[in-house]
Amino acid sequence: MRILLVEDEPVLSETLAAILSHQHYTVDAVFDGTQALQMALTGIYDVLILDINLPGLDGLSVLRQLRAAQQEVPVLLLSAKGEVADIIQGLDAGANDYLAKPFNIEELLARLRAMTRSHLNRSATVLTFADLALDLQTGRLFCGVKQIHLAAKEFQLMELFIRNHGQILTKEKLTQKVWGFDSQAEYNNVEVYISFLRKKLQAIGSQTHIYARRGLGYVLEAPNAAAPPYSST
Ligand code: CA
Repeated sequence: MRILLVEDEPVLSETLAAILSHQHYTVDAVFDGTQALQMALTGIYDVLILDINLPGLDGLSVLRQLRAAQQEVPVLLLSAKGEVADIIQGLDAGANDYLAKPFNIEELLARLRAMTRSHLNRSATVLTFADLALDLQTGRLFCGVKQIHLAAKEFQLMELFIRNHGQILTKEKLTQKVWGFDSQAEYNNVEVYISFLRKKLQAIGSQTHIYARRGLGYVLEAPNAAAPPYSST
């Protein structure tokens, strides 16, 4: 899960980023509204934490422009004391939830869980596809009685593949989702991690495979999968 954290107070931003990372979220922190909007418009985020009072573009303007661009990513607004009118405007503009500062970190985490659950229907803690089951809490991948531990990046890739099985994921999308924008990750990192994942799928005896589609990207498929959607175009 990739979070865009938009908060201009450095200490709060740093504290939140540390706590969220510890909770296995991947966090990109930005400090002004203009950059926040640019990054959010890429569509790679699973949730935004958006402060209202920001330099550049304020949080409500960021939110309105996102919604105007049909970006339905869940947004949690952060407001300072006395911004009740802003919160109401924010909810009307399409925010999914809000918290007034100072807030309790456990409450923030609970709200994030609730927002992402309703958005992605991720009430389950185990994702399944064909003979695979991925435990989202432990990062273990199961096939029947066999299981294997996935390292952090492998886990994030596998989660993307299972959630989007049968769909081609481009290298660009995989890189952005797993490594983010600021990383020095080259695309061939994706290839390296996919080769790790293929070995692990083999090790647990899965019939599924991550196929390379030349010039397009990668797709997770089971042997009896229906014809992939791209074949019709
Ligand atoms: Ca602020």
